[in-house]
Amino acid sequence: MLSYLHAFHAGNFADVQKHAALTLALSMMQAKSSGIACIDTHAGSAIYDLNSERARKTGEADTGIQKLWRTRDRLRSGDWQPLLRVLEGLNAGKGDLTVYPGSPVWFRNFLRADDSLTTFELHPAESDQLAGWAAGQKIRVIREDGLNGLLKQLPPRQPRLLVLIDPSYEVKTEYADVASTLQKAWQKCRHGVYLIWYPILTSGLHQGLKEAVRSSPVRKVLCSEVHLNNLPERGMTGSGMLVVNPPWGLDERLSAMMEDIAGSDGLDVLHRLDWLVPE
Ligand code: SAM
Repeated sequence: MLSYLHAFHAGNFADVQKHAALTLALSMMQAKSSGIACIDTHAGSAIYDLNSERARKTGEADTGIQKLWRTRDRLRSGDWQPLLRVLEGLNAGKGDLTVYPGSPVWFRNFLRADDSLTTFELHPAESDQLAGWAAGQKIRVIREDGLNGLLKQLPPRQPRLLVLIDPSYEVKTEYADVASTLQKAWQKCRHGVYLIWYPILTSGLHQGLKEAVRSSPVRKVLCSEVHLNNLPERGMTGSGMLVVNPPWGLDERLSAMMEDIAGSDGLDVLHRLDWLVPE
């Protein structure tokens, strides 16, 4: 089943948290010069038009990235700057944003000569768009299941690894599949940094993923969750990120970023950060 299209959700509050964590992890890892293999298991179509019919139908970016962009002068953490610079580079002028970058574009903007980027996307139209954007760049686009594909790439040629696992969770078994893939990937590359996004749902389905990771041999798992203060009656009430092997100090720096967006003058969310599994 491939009915999910990220264009309906691009730039929402969950993307803000996810891409803040991604850009922070990338910036922190790049404090060292050794190469990083970057793998994006569920890449989407790369570039999103925030004025498209799909984006306007939900208006989700209005309470996400557009809100952040309009209130960017009050962000206290300097760790927002790399993210803001990417947005500035893609959007001309001073008004609302019109273009929002998906995860491959965030990765691409940080890539150095010794880093690599491998992306997976299974949806045919999304994968075609991704391949069109990636053409001529040093980026691999593979139309294959991202979880199986990830395991085939490990261990990487580069000394370090950064993986983003960001499925659409259209199929209920994906929560368990993500946990078992993480365990297998970690066994092949224990020092890798793995970022795993999940929706926080009224149904509690995401708890299965957290429990499975908690009871696995994987160590050092940070859990960041943003919860909406104005709860919808059903569906997604928050956004979660697991970070396996976070660079030292990422917990405090990510917290500071999320605290910046917490209040009602920000994205109106509550942030919680804990170690799901300590060292
Ligand atoms: N990571 C993207 C970003 O941050 O901009 C958003 C990705 S979106 C949440 C999930 C994507 O996974 C969708 O584009 C969907 O088509 C794709 N997808 C679904 N099942 C997949 C699978 N088994 N392997 C790879 N991609 C898949």
